[in-house]
Amino acid sequence: MMPFQELVLASHNAGKLKELQAMLGDAVRVRSIGEFSAVEPEETGLSFVENALLKARNAARISGLPALADDSGLAVDFLGGAPGIYSARYADGQGDAANNAKLLDALKDVTDEQRGAQFVCALVLVRHADDPLPIICEGLWPGSILHEARGVEGFGYDPLFWVSERGCSSAELPAAEKNQLSHRARAMALLKQRLGIA
Ligand code: IMP
Repeated sequence: MMPFQELVLASHNAGKLKELQAMLGDAVRVRSIGEFSAVEPEETGLSFVENALLKARNAARISGLPALADDSGLAVDFLGGAPGIYSARYADGQGDAANNAKLLDALKDVTDEQRGAQFVCALVLVRHADDPLPIICEGLWPGSILHEARGVEGFGYDPLFWVSERGCSSAELPAAEKNQLSHRARAMALLKQRLGIA
């Protein structure tokens, strides 16, 4: 049984809201933080979980509602987990193509065996701003980094992310298939279990 009927999503991204609402189903209405504030908090954490937690607390404080936040990115083993929480702005805000070029350059002399990586998604739900027991769910999607881009689906680092279980890059997977396997899907499955709506 879902413990509340509505929650606020700590994101201004309409696509993300639609995707998360679809994953959660009818049991809960997902509202946008944009209904309450246009200001986004500074993401000062060092981990995906810390940043998702601070976004969730901020959204709950502003809205007075239970709040859900997500934070995601790509962690490459050889780079000590980089670009990690800086995935979106790895190439100083120049966008996906520049991020991918920088990643290929950072791994240019690195062998196949050392190119392991994972997409990470942290979902954090707080019942109120000072909740001492947030629900924290992390989804990891293991793979490796290709030597050149493949595929046109998806976004971000998808063209460089080799999905060995499918024998293709994540940009070669149809959206519906990626959405069954991805870090976000894994984190959401855990969250639904925790909420009793699996
Ligand atoms: P955000 O959590 O939507 O802000 O995503 C952070 C960044 O991580 C994105 O800008 C992408 O660079 C990367 N990222 C997160 N999830 C994915 C994915 O599913 N595919 C490719 N890149 C991703």
